[in-house]
This record gives sequence, structure tokens and C-alpha cells, in this order.
Amino acid sequence: MDTGPEAQTTRVVIVGGGSAGWMCAAGLSRLLDPSAYSLTLIESDEIGAVGVGEATLPHIKIFNDMLGIREAEFLSATQGTFKLGIEFRGWGAPGDSYVHPFGTFGEPWGGVHFQHHWLRARSAGLPVAPLEAYSYAVAACRAGVFEFPSEDRKSIRSTYAYAYHFDASLYANFLRRWATARGVRRIEGKVVEVARDGESGLIEAVSLESGARIAGDLFVDCSGFRSLLLGGALEVGWQDWTPWLPCDRALAVPCERATDFTPYTRSTAQEAGWTWRIPLQHRTGNGYVFSSRFTDEDRAREVLLSALDAPPQAEPKLLRFSPGRRELAWRGNCVAVGLASGFLEPLESTSIFLIQAAVTDLANLMPAPRQGRRADPRLANEFNRLFAIQYDRVRDFLILHYRANARHGQPLWDYVRTMPIPDTLTQKMSLFEARALTPDYKYGLFARDSWLSVLVGQGVTPQGYDRLAEGLSLADAQAHLERLKARIDANVAAMSSHAGFIANYCAGSDGAGQQPAATVR
Ligand SMILES: Cc1cc2nc3c(=O)[nH]c(=O)nc-3n(C[C@H](O)[C@H](O)[C@H](O)COP(=O)(O)OP(=O)(O)OC[C@H]3O[C@@H](n4cnc5c(N)ncnc54)[C@H](O)[C@@H]3O)c2cc1C
Repeated sequence: MDTGPEAQTTRVVIVGGGSAGWMCAAGLSRLLDPSAYSLTLIESDEIGAVGVGEATLPHIKIFNDMLGIREAEFLSATQGTFKLGIEFRGWGAPGDSYVHPFGTFGEPWGGVHFQHHWLRARSAGLPVAPLEAYSYAVAACRAGVFEFPSEDRKSIRSTYAYAYHFDASLYANFLRRWATARGVRRIEGKVVEVARDGESGLIEAVSLESGARIAGDLFVDCSGFRSLLLGGALEVGWQDWTPWLPCDRALAVPCERATDFTPYTRSTAQEAGWTWRIPLQHRTGNGYVFSSRFTDEDRAREVLLSALDAPPQAEPKLLRFSPGRRELAWRGNCVAVGLASGFLEPLESTSIFLIQAAVTDLANLMPAPRQGRRADPRLANEFNRLFAIQYDRVRDFLILHYRANARHGQPLWDYVRTMPIPDTLTQKMSLFEARALTPDYKYGLFARDSWLSVLVGQGVTPQGYDRLAEGLSLADAQAHLERLKARIDANVAAMSSHAGFIANYCAGSDGAGQQPAATVR
């Protein structure tokens, strides 16, 4: 029998202490009433965590702000840098480059989205610049500069957002200190057994190698690829997305920090996958995500090492994975978060975002206090609905990168260019091809401009545009385009270098952060 003061609370037991486990522990300890919920996290030092995952999306700032974490302190603790987007090299065709920015392209004129004005001006033969010239975030990436966005909605500097690159292990350590200082109980040990109620099938407790038994009401499976509780004990099925996303391995290696301290992640298409390059303060993170169907590990190692811009600091580490997701993320009294619930290759840095979304949804749908193990199934159903939307939308966006390639004559690229794709992606691509329409979700990733950047960046050409763009005269459209580009160029030219901004911001042992004076227009 479980007694003591904890019997009065809903006992939430988190299994796993990687980024997912500690984000969950930190987020729930901030959002839940500590007198009604107790939080325990079990992690195994022997097993360890994946330890990669260095690039993020802007949403992480909301998460850190919600915890009350001071940004400069966080950046110092995790060797973090700023990220304004991802540069894709060679994805459309060998030698090309485009940036998927955290920001907009232009602005709507006369209620019509920017891309339609741009396409119309282009098809009328006006001397318009490439699409990326009208994105503030892309211009800042190309110039290697960074400053915080303006809060003045009228300023051109309010049209972008930013995320971070950081050392994922240091982030998990940072959150561990944060969460344990706020009452999360940490238990070191290896879970070897999961005890379930014979009648309901609900999880009652997990047992550790040491013999300790940890009972709980709600179990959060953050055990990584093992998916110890949801996939293992509860046998929830797996949707395998390998036919659409054939990469199933990664080699990761850090190298010395390069002089080119970019405010963006770089993803370069390679013969059987793609390499990443992520600049941190103390080193550059690199990896090669590849398909074992189209190359072998020795060759992948060679490709990775030849792509580094400085000497490696370790032996490349191999990671195996399968793209896909669990059929459900919440069954009974078990909710999986992070790699235990699914995995999508890090092409668009989505895993940490998916963890954050799951933590937020879990906090919103948390079973009412003191209900024991029996949660309202309507809450689980809603969580599963949101989980599926998130994963399926990211999946389509990733497949688009592969599908829209012109790397002819390379077996992986020929395969992905011609493979059958999900109907949901076919529909999005054909709407863009017909009328330059892009998805406009209210929930989940990715926004309209993200689709636009990849579709245009990889050479998908629309046959038409929104006819309402013709409400503006061509001369006015051209004047708008010229003014917009001039504003972007003038403001970007006045910004600080990325490296200089970080050095200044993180200066001082207290991490107080000094923002260089910005010239906001
Ligand atoms: C190659 C690669 C690159 C990536 N790059 C990015 C990126 O750029 N951006 C991004 O957002 N994400 C990225 N990710 C994903 C990111 O690394 C993970 O989503 C994130 O680290 C969360 O992992 P996790 O906590 O779910 O699992 P893990 O890190 O594997 O943690 C699992 C935890 O469970 C514990 N555990 C397991 N079994 C037991 C047991 N029996 N008993 C006790 N404890 C146990 C482990 O000790 C560990 O603490 C990348 C992933 C890979 C594979």
C-alpha cells in the first residue's frame, strides 16, 4: 500500500532524463500546483541520453520564458548561439542555396499575401529580386548579423523571430538543476520491470535494478527510442514512415569552432542524405543523416569528415533510428513524450519543439488532482488528436524537402523524387503549383512562409497567383517591392555581427546580459 503525505497528491512519475524528461519535469513543476501533484523523475546514468539535438525553433524561448529562465544565463550555461533559420545547400539542385527563415517574406498589400504580388511582378517581367531579398531574417543570415527583433509592429525589425543552437546535454543539466531546486524528486536507477493492474491494465509501479519500487498515478514515458512503457509494456503500435523518409542513421561529431560564426543552421544535401552544421560558442556540431539503403557507414564517415570546416574533436558517434510515430501517445495512465513517442529526422529541428508542445498539452489536459490512476479518456483522446496533427504536419513538410529535388542521377534522390507521397502533401503541393497557395494552420508547424521558402527555394514554380493581386497597379507593386528591399538592406547593414552580439550579451559572470544599442527603424 502506498501511504504518507504523497498519497494525497497525484503522483506523476517521469521515466527518463534526456531533454524530454527534464523539459517535462521543469514544465510540469512550473505549471502544476505542487500541493496537488508530486513529480518524480527516474534516470539511468548507465544508459545515458541521446545527447544530440542542438538546433531549435523560436518556440523554445516561450518555454524558457515560462520557466522564468534568464536568457543570457541560459546561453552561457549551454554555450548557446542565436538562430534565425536554416540554410539549405544543394537541396533543389547541386550548388544552389536558400534559407528557411524564422520570419516573413514581405507583408500583405491590399489584403493579398506578399508572394502573389511578387509572382505577378515577376511574371510581368519587372526587375524583381529573388524572393529571399524580401525577408529580413534571410538578409540577416546572409550578412551574419544578429540583434533582437523589435516589439514595434510597424518596424521592419519586428518581422522575424529567433531560436537557439545549444549543447543539448548542457540544456538537460540546466533544466535538471532548475527542476530539482523546485521540488522534483530525482531517482538514479535503471527500470527493469513495469507492474500493471491485472484487470485495468493501468501501470501501478516501475521497479528498479536496485529493487526499489516506484508507484505512481500517471507515468510519463521519456525513455527515448526504447519507449519502455508505451511501446514496451503497453505495446502501442508504431507507424513506420521509412518509405517516405528513408534516412535511418546519423553520424555526429563536434569540431573546433570555425571563424564563420553563422546565425543559422546549415543543412547540405549529400549523396545519400544530408550533413548538418551548427555553430555553438565553444565548438561546431556536425552530423550526417543518411540512409543505410543507399550508403554504408564507412562511406558516410568519409563524407562527414570531409564536410567539416575544422579538425574533429572526437570519433563520430553512430545513431540508429526509424522515422515514424506511435499510433497513440497516451494510453491508460501512460503518456509518452520525446523519442519514446516518435522520431522525425532533425532536418527542421523539430524534436525539441514536439517535446515542448507535448508538455504544454499534457499540462492543459492533466487529469484533475486526486483522481488516482483513472483519467478521463476524453483528455487522452484530445492529447492523441493533437499529437497526431503535430507529427503528421511536420512529416509532410520534411518529405517536401526530399520530393522537390533536382539531384538527378543519385539513387537516394531519384527515389525520393519519384516515390508516392501522402495525399495530404500532394494536396498542399498542387495548391501551390496551381495558385501559389500555402497552408495556413492555426495549430502546429509550419507556417505559411515556411512552406513558401522551401517550395520556392527548391524550384517549385506556381502556374498562377491570387488574381486579387491585380488590385494594385504594377507600378505601385514595383515601388512597394523596391522600398521594402531598401528598408531591409539599410537596417541589416546597421546590425551587430552575430559573434560580437553574443560576446557582449553573455559578458559578465552573472550572465546579466548587455544588449548592444540597436538602431530600430
Ligand atoms: C541524430 C540526431 C540529431 C538530432 N538533432 C536535433 C536537433 O537539432 N534539434 C532537435 O530539436 N532535436 C534533435 N534531435 C532529437 C533530440 O535529440 C531528442 O528529441 C531529445 O534529445 C529528446 O530525447 P529524449 O529525452 O526523448 O530521449 P533520450 O535522450 O534518449 O533520453 C532517454 C532517457 O531515458 C533514460 N532511460 C532509458 N531507459 C531507461 C531505463 N530502463 N531506466 C531508467 N532510465 C532509462 C535514459 O537514461 C535517458 O535519461 C536529434 C536526434 C538525433 C538522433
